[in-house]
Amino acid sequence: MLDQPSRQQNQQNLNQNPNPNSYRNQFPWRLWTKIQLPPGTKRILASSFYQLKLGHGFIKAYLHRISQAGDNQYRCGKKETAEHLLLSCRDTQLVTVRTKLKDKIQELRPSLRLLMHTKIGIEKTLDFLRDTRICTRRWHLEQWQEAQARQE
Ligand SMILES: [Zn+2]
Repeated sequence: MLDQPSRQQNQQNLNQNPNPNSYRNQFPWRLWTKIQLPPGTKRILASSFYQLKLGHGFIKAYLHRISQAGDNQYRCGKKETAEHLLLSCRDTQLVTVRTKLKDKIQELRPSLRLLMHTKIGIEKTLDFLRDTRICTRRWHLEQWQEAQARQE
């Protein structure tokens, strides 16, 4: 299952950090040693979350690497990675959703670690995924169809 490697990876990352205080100072929230999605999280949403976290699944940086996509770009022209979609893409829809996300965690510049490893970060990431549907098969196919339509 997808969540097993992610837990291991997560713990490894935390253990490997030479100075835990550096990010503790940076983030006032406790970093979870394993991912705990809120109870009742829908399966498709949980799946998207783990895909985003692991960089696998319906995301073109990955699909291109395994020769399942013709390129690795999101429609903005930048490489389609979790970090880009969550944190820096200027695509209008993503910016709108991200603005909501930032309201809740505005003291900090959100980082991928914050969004994937803290309770509030995970909640916000799930909100983001729910609103954007990124990292679902349907989302990926819609992107693909849009790109086809643009080329015609
Ligand atoms: Zn972008």
